[in-house]
Amino acid sequence: MYIVLLGPPGSGKGTQAEVLSRVFDAGHLSTGDLLRDILENQDHPLYPKVQVIKEGRLVSDEVVNQVVEDGLKRPEFRNGAIFDGYPRTPAQAAALDRMLAARGKKVDVVIDLDVTKDVLLYRLLGRLVCPRCKRIFHERQGLAECPDCGVELVRRGDDNEETIMQRLEEYKDKTAVLQDYYRNSPAVYIRLRISDASKTAGDVQEEITDRLRQHNVI
Ligand code: AMP
Repeated sequence: MYIVLLGPPGSGKGTQAEVLSRVFDAGHLSTGDLLRDILENQDHPLYPKVQVIKEGRLVSDEVVNQVVEDGLKRPEFRNGAIFDGYPRTPAQAAALDRMLAARGKKVDVVIDLDVTKDVLLYRLLGRLVCPRCKRIFHERQGLAECPDCGVELVRRGDDNEETIMQRLEEYKDKTAVLQDYYRNSPAVYIRLRISDASKTAGDVQEEITDRLRQHNVI
């Protein structure tokens, strides 16, 4: 199963990707996580090319496509992948189609998380992440450490108001066009509207499950 999660930063792609990865026994491929790993390793050959992350700008298609191509070779992706934050441009979407076609596969489902700006800002400005397992939390939960790893939760460097605004602009300019790309593709297209900050990840998960059932995907 190959699922693409579309949606702006803070829309909950990472959280839902984790759940879907367990449901379908498919790997969770977050390009943001893969690129941040490179950003922490000064000796990595792609290190200079990922610095734009700090400004909230997109890394080049060439670099991201290479990172995904290499990532998909890992054993956790043998049954499929849940793509979180990829593709983000039409050129990446075309590259993904080619990578999957080379394996005799295609994008099966696209889940578009359409979240209002108020909810995005509330989530991103309060977001905390476990640096080890990458699980996502919110400061309203009052946790200092990851309940699974016991490691101190941190804020992402790009979760500040200025960079968030830039990232939302990048989404509107470059990624929103993918909605049409996938609506016109054979993939099952599921769009969820989220305008209420009190809606939990569990609520969204239930809605996704219902919609996947309606489309006979599960
Ligand atoms: P994310 O964790 O998905 O919010 O991504 C964090 C940052 O990594 C983004 O703001 C971009 O700078 C970069 N990034 C992640 N995925 C991609 C992608 N598919 N294409 C280009 N840049 C990306």
